[in-house]
Amino acid sequence: MKDLYDRSRLRSNRRNFLAVAGGLGSYLTAFSALSSPLFSQARDYGPPAWIPLEKLERRLQELGRRYPDLMNLRTLGKSVEGRSLWVATLTDSSVGDETKEHVLLTTLHSGIERIGPSSLLYLMRWLLSGHPMAREMLRKQRIVCLPIVNPDGYVSGSFHNKNDLDPYSSWTLEGPMEPEKNPEAMAVKRIMDELQPEVHGDMHGSILDFHGSIHADTSAAYSNVSLRPYHHEIMRLMNEAALEEGYPADWLEEDSERIFWGPELDPIRDKVWKGRPRAYAAIYCYNRYHSIVTANENAWERSALLRYRRLLQIGNEVWPGEYFPGYPTRVIMGNDLHRLTAYGVTAAQRRKSRVELWNKTRQITFGFDWPETEGMILCFCATSLTAVQKWLGDATLSDMAQRIKSHPGFRSKEILRLAKLHPGEDGKRPAAFLTEGGGAKYYGMDQGPDSLDAGEVSPIEHGLCIRLRIPYHKAELLDLRLNGHPVGRSESDGYVSWVARGFFNVQVNVSPERTKKDDFFLVTCEYDPRERRTQGTATWEGK
Ligand SMILES: [Zn+2]
Repeated sequence: MKDLYDRSRLRSNRRNFLAVAGGLGSYLTAFSALSSPLFSQARDYGPPAWIPLEKLERRLQELGRRYPDLMNLRTLGKSVEGRSLWVATLTDSSVGDETKEHVLLTTLHSGIERIGPSSLLYLMRWLLSGHPMAREMLRKQRIVCLPIVNPDGYVSGSFHNKNDLDPYSSWTLEGPMEPEKNPEAMAVKRIMDELQPEVHGDMHGSILDFHGSIHADTSAAYSNVSLRPYHHEIMRLMNEAALEEGYPADWLEEDSERIFWGPELDPIRDKVWKGRPRAYAAIYCYNRYHSIVTANENAWERSALLRYRRLLQIGNEVWPGEYFPGYPTRVIMGNDLHRLTAYGVTAAQRRKSRVELWNKTRQITFGFDWPETEGMILCFCATSLTAVQKWLGDATLSDMAQRIKSHPGFRSKEILRLAKLHPGEDGKRPAAFLTEGGGAKYYGMDQGPDSLDAGEVSPIEHGLCIRLRIPYHKAELLDLRLNGHPVGRSESDGYVSWVARGFFNVQVNVSPERTKKDDFFLVTCEYDPRERRTQGTATWEGK
């Protein structure tokens, strides 16, 4: 490694520099730093710094033997060249799985980016250390680690396996490319499908071909702009945890001061962030399971530990904006104030519901009255095309209210009363209509799920929640109804409310028993904002 830096060239560069700066006597003191041993002689970078694979495997096996109640180690078959594909599950086996959050940690490159396996092992050792915080994580989470996804690449120093496939990036949204040549990626897919994780974290970074090989530390992928936690706040928390011990972070597009690329911006591709949206392994996991995905680059094991420890802490906390503790992965639809969210009192119930709703978004129509008005909300969720055609009509509030009269399960009087209170119903203003909060369907009811085949639609088996976000945190609920019937407080079949981030949240939990037999749900809410904010003319007239 010594030949990487030519001592004589370093010296002559320094001489030229001094000659130029020589006249500026006052600056000379600053150059004294250059006389330190680091710059005056070539460094000894030493032998390769990566741990031989056999040693890494031995460490894994030792951990498994030492902590049989906390760690289960098994293999998921063999790599192209016949090396073992290890998977370690870390969790407190005395606590049932029903209440546990699921986390998948991989080192998917794990070929040349050898700090990945080393960092994950370092984190695993901390998780098993008996530290009170670690013990709590293992009680509340099931943390599945694939520390050496590409063992052949690890040994040969390549991103790819022997079939020239990179187990990290050779994916489509459906899974690994060329499955029979891609056993490493197929093992990852198997674990993703089994675990349906709330979080997928992937460790990258230094190649460790020599001591002091460094890489920018950060908590997201450079090449793939979609590979970031959808809560950017998570990235910030991870980076800040590392900074507390002095490890810096590169903030990617923010530090580069660039906006994201998109097809319409292609003519200015040289001016936008270089990362592109790509279907890597992590995006498969997001697409199937609505997982929070993150990748990180690291130069040092300690820096990775600090970042991932912070990430894992989130799984034990109540996320700002959420009601139940655990990772914030529950919002399925809704681009505006209100949300369709996953149902469930336990982590396992919420996971089932999340995965079901996430994969049925095409058959679901979710929306609310618009323009929204202070003091009242009408928010609906139709889970079949039939329900859309039957109850939403021409997508105006008044048409829905009229149609609802013939719904056998509804108390329509209450809905009609509230609908009539909407300012758009006085005949002087534009009529109120129903708008969808579901991504591409946002702009109109006619773009609803009418392209679905009947066979693609099935009842919702695992419940759903309609979450209203009232933008007045001191608000008081006056009347809350589901399908016109009063709703009581209940985490499993009723409502919960909480204040977070300036919102008064009201979540109506619609049980699986209800969603299995019904396909249209309407929440009506009247509230007192208990706050007067000025607006428009009132702001300017000082009223
Ligand atoms: Zn990488």
